[in-house]
Amino acid sequence: DVDVPEDHPRYESLLTRHRIEEGVEKGITSKQGLIAEGRGEAFDYLLGEETTESADAAARAAAAHLLLARHPVLSVNGNVAALVPGEMVELSEAVGADLEVNLFNRTEERMEAIAAHLREHGASDVKGLAADASIPGLSHERAKVDADGIYDADVVLVPLEDGDRAAALAEMGKTEIVVDLNPMSRSARSAAVPIIDNILRAVPNVTRHARDLADASDEELRDVVESFDRTAALAAAERRIREGVGDR
Ligand code: ATP
Ligand code: MG
Repeated sequence: DVDVPEDHPRYESLLTRHRIEEGVEKGITSKQGLIAEGRGEAFDYLLGEETTESADAAARAAAAHLLLARHPVLSVNGNVAALVPGEMVELSEAVGADLEVNLFNRTEERMEAIAAHLREHGASDVKGLAADASIPGLSHERAKVDADGIYDADVVLVPLEDGDRAAALAEMGKTEIVVDLNPMSRSARSAAVPIIDNILRAVPNVTRHARDLADASDEELRDVVESFDRTAALAAAERRIREGVGDR
């Protein structure tokens, strides 16, 4: 369905753009989602468009947190739904997490479209439509979550979350895992585990680590969690951007 030559040097990036465009056409992704995509691409370019060692360590820590959680929830917005719907379903199954649709610009149509899209990709239960609880400290529409979903969660994965809501969730005492290509964004900075990587690579990588850790004891999982250094991970990403990755 995509007319992008596979040998094109920017194949991945063109494919990603195409998926986001399709997301907008299907009513899944907002127009702001297009802008977020552009910003993400710029950071991905600067990072070398690959999973760095520190992003991989963050992905492993994320997997350990999700496996240790009482109630893990994976939050899905319009860009996430357009880019990695099947991968989010797979991750939810690997760690026993709920999927919850959570939008910055909430409309019932877009909520329904995303929930349907996730179900098409194998999700059995999608939360977010009840919206019967709110995150303290946010304006009405943006605060809405499900009482038996994000509101109750102890660990939440919020890919591409906006900074305000990321901070509000952290304020509620939740362990927050953020996927964001910008190590300077408020979302990445308020996360317990910032994964500075493209969601296209990060989500399957967390799943891979979760499968690898499936038989680990709680003690081993806690070791993985404790050996992760969030400040060092942010610094490593920033250093890579500043020092560059050479000619491409
Ligand atoms: P804040 O400081 O509130 O966090 P922001 O600048 O991050 O604000 P947005 O532009 O809405 O606000 O956020 C988009 C974020 O998502 C950017 O940081 C961008 O790097 C990131 N992003 C976009 N596409 C991807 C992607 N495919 N994978 C990972 N991160 C992405
Ligand atoms: Mg952000």
